[in-house]
Amino acid sequence: MKPDRANANDLYLLEGVSMSGFVSVRLNQFVKQYLRNHKDAEGDEVRAAVEDALAAWRQGVRCVCGKRLWVAGSAVAGYGCFTCITGSAEPDGDPEIDAACDGFSFEADDAEDRIAQVSEIIKNHPRDYRERLEEVGFEWQDDETDLLFEEEAKEERAAVPETESQRRLVQFLDTGGFVTRKVLDAYLEERYSETSNLPLIRKYFKQANLNLKAILLKGLVADPTDLDLLDDLSYFSEFDSMLGELIHFYTDACLKETDIERFSLLAQDFHMNTCDQGYDALHELVTIFQAGTKGAVVQQLSETIDDYEGVEGILF
Ligand SMILES: [Zn+2]
Repeated sequence: MKPDRANANDLYLLEGVSMSGFVSVRLNQFVKQYLRNHKDAEGDEVRAAVEDALAAWRQGVRCVCGKRLWVAGSAVAGYGCFTCITGSAEPDGDPEIDAACDGFSFEADDAEDRIAQVSEIIKNHPRDYRERLEEVGFEWQDDETDLLFEEEAKEERAAVPETESQRRLVQFLDTGGFVTRKVLDAYLEERYSETSNLPLIRKYFKQANLNLKAILLKGLVADPTDLDLLDDLSYFSEFDSMLGELIHFYTDACLKETDIERFSLLAQDFHMNTCDQGYDALHELVTIFQAGTKGAVVQQLSETIDDYEGVEGILF
């Protein structure tokens, strides 16, 4: 059900913008890298220190000078902002925990990387990416830059139900009620149809329509480990803050799934669909599944996904 998102190439980049800043790293990456450089440090302690600094950052704790905390630095040097901890005015490729980077950071000066960074911002902030980009120095040169999103919105406004099943679905989405098997089937039929009316349904996702959510939840009651419905629920959650619920459904699915290959896919989706919101699904799964085949799978995933290039530059 995911629509194509705006393409970074459609954006005009403002010349001369400084691209220095933090390098966003996941908590796991940070801990791992830190341990690599500090053989005598304890993983659990480093992790706890980062989590503590992150919690303080979230609560709005500030440096004595009044600036926001630098989470990665605060974890190892005590609470402080980047300047007070390092003595440098601005970060320049220094690591920061992704959850505290607000989903973006700039890694390098060349255009290709900038485009990748812009894509990342759009992906992580589909609703307010314009504001996010402006915050980091981009300027919108004219309204055409938003053409794709406008195009999508236009399609959505124009979309009308064309089949019996679409009519049934839309009627339910507009009026609500008890989710019957017929309603659920109408949704599933639309979802898997090769000629599905995407803009028609996408509109309801973007509105965070509660009747649509009820359909997804009903589907998950019937099949708690359905990868596609969980993926739809994740997409829905982009328009409605419901991380806790999403975590609940993914965790439940991971517990219930008996097929090990599907379990692995669930764990990967769980990670992908929650990491942008600062949740570390693999870490939680490693805690839940400490032994057995599932334990081995999550352990391996957690190691593979941690072996992420580009964090070699961490200086601590
Ligand atoms: Zn300070």
